[in-house]
Amino acid sequence: MDTHIWPITASVNQAGHLEIGGCDTLALAREHGTPLYLLDEATFRASCRAYREALGRHYPGAFAIHYASKSLLNTAVAQLVKSEGLSLDVVSGGELWVALRAGFAAERIHLHGNAKPRHELEQALAAGVGNIVVDTLDELRLLAELTAGRTGQPQPLLIRVAPGIAAHTHAHIQTGQADSKFGLPLVLLGEAAVILRGAPGLRLRGLHCHLGSQLFETDIYQRAVDVLLDAAAALRDQQGIVVDEISPGGGLGVPYTPDQQPPDLDAFVRTLSAAMAAGCAARGLPLPTLVIEPGRSIVARAGVALYEVVARKPLAGGPGRASAFVHVDGGMADNIRPALYEAVYTAALASRPTAPAEEQVHVAGRYCESGDVLLHDAHLPHAAPGDLLALATAGAYTLSMASNYNLVPRPALLLVGDGRAKIIQRRETYEDLARRDAGIEGENQ
Ligand code: PLP
Repeated sequence: MDTHIWPITASVNQAGHLEIGGCDTLALAREHGTPLYLLDEATFRASCRAYREALGRHYPGAFAIHYASKSLLNTAVAQLVKSEGLSLDVVSGGELWVALRAGFAAERIHLHGNAKPRHELEQALAAGVGNIVVDTLDELRLLAELTAGRTGQPQPLLIRVAPGIAAHTHAHIQTGQADSKFGLPLVLLGEAAVILRGAPGLRLRGLHCHLGSQLFETDIYQRAVDVLLDAAAALRDQQGIVVDEISPGGGLGVPYTPDQQPPDLDAFVRTLSAAMAAGCAARGLPLPTLVIEPGRSIVARAGVALYEVVARKPLAGGPGRASAFVHVDGGMADNIRPALYEAVYTAALASRPTAPAEEQVHVAGRYCESGDVLLHDAHLPHAAPGDLLALATAGAYTLSMASNYNLVPRPALLLVGDGRAKIIQRRETYEDLARRDAGIEGENQ
């Protein structure tokens, strides 16, 4: 097995089956049904620890690691994040609610979003979140209005700026380029400072940017740090505001296929830390708290999706062409990434994970869209109906983006470790679907 793609606990057991967290995946699928998602606790915790230790080693000042909830969040995940000593970045009232429900201290939560509704800002203010990360001048004006009569400590803010850096990644997950929908144009920072001067209920704590996701280059983070520190120096020189937090966001990529090499997390943190230390010294700025927001690089590898092969459809094939569709019982409603931005994955048959490839096939989802193909031209052993297909690196931006398209209940998520599996998110039922479905009174008679 390609060990840097699958969870760190992945192995082949005596029965020849794929085992994750000491659990036989075939047995889990038999007991819990498919599609089924697994979250390997050891991999998740190891990634949290790797960030913590790397920052401890390399960054000379204070730091905070905010796990990006959007990559995967439920109460258990928030509890794991908390127990690893990380903080949280949320992007909606729902994520905030789950984080608080998990016992997360509000001051360790940051609220993001380019279009936060008024009621979610009110919710965040009432909870007392650590920072609201402001994206627009309109949001800043609204926050000034919402905090106008408040007594007590002002609400801390970060301003998310658009750094004008286009990262090498799919256009749908680029966020730092000049024409991105995210972030305040740098030229508007002065105007933001004017609004802040008239808003005693708010305090600008720092600056933030986020370049995008699934990034493999570390040098663009150096550029991001330079942009942020230039802006911090301009705020000090022109507005008399000294910020004490700098956040270059998240975005570190992970390998989804064996040929992709994992970026070196330690080297990434070292580069970032050195850029911060040198950049602050060069501009005469005090070393701020460094805030990073990894999502994918913490949770992607910990996740495995299990699907049952339902049917095959032969194709004309030919040299270098797929000879069949292998239809599975999940797809774009539990993992929209291939359809949304041509994401690639690696799969294996759970009953014989190291068997050599025998054919080139497309693995198609069950949903009524031609674009619902989870893998194009995958090289796999012959997969027949009833076989269990395991998809690696399935932890990030899968279940968190899941929908009820075709009214298919969403899969369960199990936390696996030490040979035990716990349901941390149960499979949806038809009753769950019906709960919001009011019907028209009298029409059934
Ligand atoms: N921070 C912000 C503001 C984001 O929008 C995102 C996601 O795109 C992240 C952090 C996490 O990114 P990733 O999961 O790639 O680390």
